[in-house]
Amino acid sequence: MLAPDIDRPRPDDPQTLAEVERTIASGARTLRFGGDLERRYQADTHQQRLAFITTVGIGGGLVYNLFLISDWLMLRDMFVYVALGRLCLITPMFIGALALGRRVTSRWALEAIAAAATVLCSVMPLIVMIYSDSPYQLHYQLGMLLIMVYCTMIQQLPLGFAAAAMMSMLVIQLVTTYIAEFADVLAWQANAMFYASAVALLLMASYFLERGTRLSYLFALRGRLLHVQLTEIARTDALTQLFNRRYQGEVMALIWDGAAGSPTRVAVILLDIDHFKAYNDSYGHLQGDQCLKQLSRVVQQAAQKRGALAFRFGGEEMLILLTNADTRRAGALAEELRQAVTALAVPHPVLGEGACVTISLGLAAAIAPHTSADALIASADSALYAAKHAGRDCLRCAPLEAVKG
Ligand code: GH3
Ligand code: MG
Ligand code: MG
Repeated sequence: MLAPDIDRPRPDDPQTLAEVERTIASGARTLRFGGDLERRYQADTHQQRLAFITTVGIGGGLVYNLFLISDWLMLRDMFVYVALGRLCLITPMFIGALALGRRVTSRWALEAIAAAATVLCSVMPLIVMIYSDSPYQLHYQLGMLLIMVYCTMIQQLPLGFAAAAMMSMLVIQLVTTYIAEFADVLAWQANAMFYASAVALLLMASYFLERGTRLSYLFALRGRLLHVQLTEIARTDALTQLFNRRYQGEVMALIWDGAAGSPTRVAVILLDIDHFKAYNDSYGHLQGDQCLKQLSRVVQQAAQKRGALAFRFGGEEMLILLTNADTRRAGALAEELRQAVTALAVPHPVLGEGACVTISLGLAAAIAPHTSADALIASADSALYAAKHAGRDCLRCAPLEAVKG
């Protein structure tokens, strides 16, 4: 019922945080996290990566077609073919790859599509170049270097994909320039050396880029997990593990804010342990704490089952909050709580032989924002007072007309 939370802790958060710390300390050198963390990384970054690849893909596609100018200047005898290749073959393929990238759900497939599209872009101009008699082929083939830079530095493919794409492009480069025969063997060898070095350097950069990206993800995730953990600590009572009074104020303020637009039924149950001072006096405060914890656990479980929130209101008093609930529904929960505590059968012999710890409860229901949160709590408190006066171990409800203001 109540959903004021933004970041709810997940059960596996503590383990994830420990693993994040370990991986940061190890420096993420292997470019691969442990099983669950790796899956989380791939899933968390998928959308962001898709948006990035799409943006640089559109930019890269435009620049790729601007190279029609170089084609005209340096490969004029084959211009028609290379222009047709760029505009009618590669550009539609590129658009198709971008569309396909939006449909796939795995990061692996997304990176593979990006890598394959880039390699295909690189191969077309060099194949056309083979058939050209232009004296500028040696200059023309340098365009491949730009595509290699695009693949590693702009697209920022993960190292494995970058390596596969770069090796394919290196082979394409060496084979096409060899077949084209525009240079003697020495020039070809020097050119090959130049490209092999470029591939090695760019892959080195690619490694550090991916490592940096992964580490930034880990730092951001650590921040998020710590925030959730701190928020949880700030709203939880350390002894009882119930929500604390501060969070109760926040939740009620949220409910009343929301109710300003559409009035909401809210019910409050205040419960107090009977003769708890006597319990402490005879068993000591530590034993009293144990008893309080035990009771809090059953109260929390019963409240949770009914979609209610349980707060530690004061010393041994708890407040249960229900929305969209009338007196009848809240009364049923209150009675369940009373019976659950009775069923615990925590001995309280100071009260007589066979006596057990019991609770008294006061209930008030009203419509927010017509009744203020403070007035509602005050009514539940009066009802609790009435329950104590009626002999304890019972529930009393505030009459409707009493809940005003
Ligand atoms: P009543 O039936 O009228 O409620 O009697 P009572 O003795 O329970 O009276 P009251 O509710 O006023 O007593 C509160 C007692 O609860 C006082 C204090 O000793 C005890 N108490 C409050 N907080 C804690 C706590 O965190 N741990 C322990 N052990 N005792 C607590
Ligand atoms: Mg009390
Ligand atoms: Mg009490």
